[in-house]
Amino acid sequence: MDALLEGLDPEQRAAVEAPRGPVCVLAGAGTGKTRTITHRIAYLVQRGHVAAGQVLAVTFTARAAGEMRTRLRALGVQGAQARTFHAASLRQLRYFWPRVVGGPQWDLIDRNKLRFVAQAANRVGLSTESDSLRDLAGEIEWAKASLIAPDDYPVAAGRAQRDTPAPAEQVVQVYRTYEQLKNEAQLLDFDDLLLHTAAALEEHTDVAEEFRDRYRCFVVDEYQDVTPLQQRVLDAWLGTRDDLTVVGDANQTIYSFAGASPRPLLDFPRRFPEAAVVRLERDYRSTPQVVGLANEVIKWARGRPAGSRLRLIGQRPEGPEPRFTEFDDESAEAAAVAQRVKALLDDGVPASEIAILYRVNAQSEIFEQALAELGIPYQVRGGERFFQRAEVRQAMVALRSAASHEPSGELPKVVREVLTGIGLTDEPPAGGAAREKWESLLALVELAEELVAAVEGADLPKFVAELEMRAEAQHPPTVEGVTLASLHAAKGLEWDAVFLVGLVEGTVPIVHADGDEAAIEEERRLLYVGVTRAREHLWLSWALARAVGGRRYRRRSRFLYGLIPEDHPASRTAKREPAQRKSKPLCRVCGSALTDARAVKLSRCGSCPSDVDEELLNRLRAWRAGRARELKVPAYVVFTDATLVAIAEQRPEDIPGLVAIAGIGAAKLDRYAADVLALVQGKR
Ligand code: ATP
Ligand code: MG
Repeated sequence: MDALLEGLDPEQRAAVEAPRGPVCVLAGAGTGKTRTITHRIAYLVQRGHVAAGQVLAVTFTARAAGEMRTRLRALGVQGAQARTFHAASLRQLRYFWPRVVGGPQWDLIDRNKLRFVAQAANRVGLSTESDSLRDLAGEIEWAKASLIAPDDYPVAAGRAQRDTPAPAEQVVQVYRTYEQLKNEAQLLDFDDLLLHTAAALEEHTDVAEEFRDRYRCFVVDEYQDVTPLQQRVLDAWLGTRDDLTVVGDANQTIYSFAGASPRPLLDFPRRFPEAAVVRLERDYRSTPQVVGLANEVIKWARGRPAGSRLRLIGQRPEGPEPRFTEFDDESAEAAAVAQRVKALLDDGVPASEIAILYRVNAQSEIFEQALAELGIPYQVRGGERFFQRAEVRQAMVALRSAASHEPSGELPKVVREVLTGIGLTDEPPAGGAAREKWESLLALVELAEELVAAVEGADLPKFVAELEMRAEAQHPPTVEGVTLASLHAAKGLEWDAVFLVGLVEGTVPIVHADGDEAAIEEERRLLYVGVTRAREHLWLSWALARAVGGRRYRRRSRFLYGLIPEDHPASRTAKREPAQRKSKPLCRVCGSALTDARAVKLSRCGSCPSDVDEELLNRLRAWRAGRARELKVPAYVVFTDATLVAIAEQRPEDIPGLVAIAGIGAAKLDRYAADVLALVQGKR
């Protein structure tokens, strides 16, 4: 059989083999959507239905685009374009600029954007404090991505129930002034790239004709997160043609806040009634354990995207159960995660196959510290900035100059020699910053190794050209390190082991989603995206307090209720302080005040879910029966049932933990503490 069709299931194959024309793949996480579209492109090219150069594939992030190019190259396709909407638009705009605008090309506003927003806010008399500027910039981005002109903003923001960063009329003024200042300075922001590209094609017949002659086949990955502006560009690309393949999962829509909508995906079969529509259910990425949890997370989803969900069916061999762990504070959580990462590394899991994912970027720091303390290499995503790092820029200069001297020898060796000249050592240096630099340089050597494996006759000039292409496309090489990334940035990616951290109310779901049902649903989908990144190992954790010794007022994420199986050996390190418990006992599940004695003992309401370790409870019962026989007393004199359940739920690790369980006083402690702790630790 055709090599390109091998390794595809019948549904995937149907999408790959569908004739040119509209194709829509609607499927859940890990079902092979991205794989299907790369194979489809390769298939169409191989069969001569389209030339590689006529294919334009768009994906969501620069990294995803880079990966798609790599995969296409591996399938033998050279010259197909795989880019983000922005990168594709930038290229087209640059090309058509002389015809549609003329004069010198406008630069990208880039990092100066906030300066312009600040000037505009200042004129309107609004605060120029950085957080509020960011909010204003975000609001302008939303409006532009949603194709809303300044004048239409108040009505549109009202309809979309936007939480506006200032009164709508003032946002309008900031928006208008920002546009004016930016145009006067002859600069373009990211949204302008798309707006101008669409306009160029819509308004200039000759441009449209040339473009449509050049590109004939369009593919969009992650189509559930398309904005109206991106859709307009896509429509301009297509014109009246319909050679479009889209793939997506409405239940992974996580950019609605920025104007994206799954509607074009869900409405695709209506827009193109002759479209081949394919649904995939088999999950090839994750173990049945991870898939099971993912299905549970999304089961509770509400709203339109939820209507399209399919239960995923795990295809991989069994793996470990996902683990849930509660910590006293964030440093304990970070330290434990770092320890587990280390254990995985010791077991031979490569660092690049491990990710720690969080809701907001600020959460990365404490995990960075904890990893650094154990000497574990890591990279923080935003790795897009790889080519902007000082050492990488320096390396590029050195490599470029070396290339002009026609060096001979094996490419990776040559690269290593050049980089040794700018400080690459054989052994990694100690210390965070030095270590990160070292990792960056080493990543370049590894990239050279990759190139040698992929391209015949790869030499230094070719390597430099490859680097320049990647820099332009902002596709950083994978640094051999643990990935730290936000859940948003993790979309479409996968790792052997994933840690979902900081799962507390106010973070997941994020605090400003509260009270807004649609926003809460988006947060749930975000957790779903996180869970479905894991191939095998999945840890979910949260901390009750921020700082060491801080008040443990936090509650674990509402999305976890009902997910932690009753018989799950949920490892818990929570150690309850007696004083605190006595002063105001609170349910450790839902946080409400506890009054009745049994609830106080269990440290949770009777109606809240139990996370008792059944196996431990059985051992405790057997042990109690033995002691009761020895002492010739009824069993409840040793410990009541409620106390045993409390022990099996809270799994105290030490004496303070044991004391914290109401009803275990000094006498019992003397008599039974050693036994109970040994039982909890599984030593009896
Ligand atoms: P997401 O929704 O997260 O973007 P996806 O649907 O795009 O997921 P892919 O990334 O294409 O999924 O595939 C997930 C994993 O499963 C990849 O490692 C891919 O190589 C593998 N895979 C996909 N289809 C098959 C198949 N038919 N046989 C074996 N492995 C497969
Ligand atoms: Mg994908």
